[in-house]
Amino acid sequence: MVEDNPKQTMPDMHIDQENDPSTLLQRLIKLQQSSRYIPDEAINHLAESLDLSRAFILGVIQFYSFLHSSPRGEYDILFSDNITDQMQGSRLLAERLSRHLGVRVGQTRDDQRISLDYTSCIGMGDQGPAALVNGQTITRLTPERIDQLATLIEQAVPLDNWPTELFQVSADVKRRDIVLNSNYVPGAAILRCQEEGTEELLNRLEQAGLRGCGGAGFSTARKWQLCATTQAIEHYVICNADEGEPGTFKDRYLLQAHADRLFEGMTLCAAAIGATRGILYLRGEYRYLLESLQRTLQQRRGNSLLGHAILGQDDFNFDITIQMGAGAYICGEESALIESLEGRRGIPDVRPPFPVTRGYQGMPTVVNNVETFINAAMIIQQGTGWYRSVGTTQSPGTKLLSISGDCGQPGIYEFPFGTSINDILVACQAHHTQAVQVGGAAGHLIPPAEFNRTLAFEDLATGGSFMVFNQGRELLKAIDNFTRFFRHESCGFCTPCRVGTSLLVKQLEKVMVGHATIRDLDELGTLGNLMRQTSHCGLGHTAANPVLDGLQKFPGIFQSRLRSTSFEPAFDLDASLEEARTLTGRSDSGAHLEGGGV
Ligand code: SF4
Repeated sequence: MVEDNPKQTMPDMHIDQENDPSTLLQRLIKLQQSSRYIPDEAINHLAESLDLSRAFILGVIQFYSFLHSSPRGEYDILFSDNITDQMQGSRLLAERLSRHLGVRVGQTRDDQRISLDYTSCIGMGDQGPAALVNGQTITRLTPERIDQLATLIEQAVPLDNWPTELFQVSADVKRRDIVLNSNYVPGAAILRCQEEGTEELLNRLEQAGLRGCGGAGFSTARKWQLCATTQAIEHYVICNADEGEPGTFKDRYLLQAHADRLFEGMTLCAAAIGATRGILYLRGEYRYLLESLQRTLQQRRGNSLLGHAILGQDDFNFDITIQMGAGAYICGEESALIESLEGRRGIPDVRPPFPVTRGYQGMPTVVNNVETFINAAMIIQQGTGWYRSVGTTQSPGTKLLSISGDCGQPGIYEFPFGTSINDILVACQAHHTQAVQVGGAAGHLIPPAEFNRTLAFEDLATGGSFMVFNQGRELLKAIDNFTRFFRHESCGFCTPCRVGTSLLVKQLEKVMVGHATIRDLDELGTLGNLMRQTSHCGLGHTAANPVLDGLQKFPGIFQSRLRSTSFEPAFDLDASLEEARTLTGRSDSGAHLEGGGV
């Protein structure tokens, strides 16, 4: 088992271009860490030195969840609020800590020492409930750990002196297949590429049938080819390590245990498209991995696997830097990610053009995720036959899954594409399963009648999140959690998504408190479909999936909460007037009518 201690400080991010506005986000992140907020003077200074307006900078601060324009507490505690955290008791634990410390969830204590709040899934579904304290991950929270945290905080013990076991993040790999079982030889794939040429590299990836592992499944060879053939003065390689889909955590493990393979894959891509610069966009929640990733990059430079004249090839120069995210799920969308890398709010771009022709800094750019780059490196090292030895014709190879929820063995599993949900449930020791959410909040809710379906691009495509709900769970709570997540994460750019996600939450509330009618369910369906058709980007297209899947596949969980009338207002006038009736001592029918008051 690989263990990593995330209790590390943030190293310098090498921001050396003093007047480059694209450094804005990284500068704000550093300021947030050093000052616990972005002071007004700092905003003025940045506005002047980067030639940006104050309004622009404030817009960026407001966009990212981990940036603040007013001070956070010395101890800034954020509980991961995914449904699987809640199923493990996270809400009760947050309330326990709230009572101990005398600060409400969502507030900063009057003495400015403690802030307490919830945040979207932090990628620890296999070892939750989990929380971030000043950006550092604390796992496996229990009532005892909460009491321990409260004592450490009240005694003002610096985070550096907290017991290291609080920060341990385990690598819970429960099943390995061809990728995780294969030995990696540093530089072997690059050497092969140098010997055989980049055309052969692309041929091999094409023959292997490698497809983007984020869920969309676009051909990796074709993406690299399109970028390579777009004429420009520079090309870029970007790794999307913004693993923000609720319930996903397999990239966390890959970044922790297999960063070398990832950087090899990025280097192959650079060779194929003619790039000299690569960027790893690391989600803010995984900041604890930054130092070990920097170390791996440094080792590779020392071994001539990065930098000038890689493995002695004079005209092959390529290096990788790391830029941090700051808590915005939408930045997992590739055009939003590029906006974020350029220091702006992560608003998805209008497409086309796609990044392969016009991406980072307006140049042709390949964006792939962690697993895709690793698979590319391993295919070139091991051969196409090796990759095609498992999986299906349309979906060769394997998929890493992050399995959490109601099962005996949560963790990371590598399965061949084409494995059925039934087989996965057996492997993770799930019993009496009511439903599985495949692909995270944006994915699909699968009922038992469909457990024979398979994980594959031709059936259920997934980025890797696999959440299990047993028959004792209220599925409506999971649907509500996912819908609230999307309301929080909507970037607000387009109306169908910005307004639609709020309306979905309100309508669901009406269902959950028992005020909804059949007509409300029809409205939920209409609204969800409208969002699918008219939203600007993938978030809006998929934000209604949990509701629509629920309505279609689990109608009973909605219908059991309906009132019998055909229309019920969301606002309960009678209940709202009850207090007034009590105060006035009036209970007659005219108490609130004109002329009937006191
Ligand atoms: Fe933003 Fe949502 Fe519109 Fe996407 S669909 S651009 S996330 S508001």
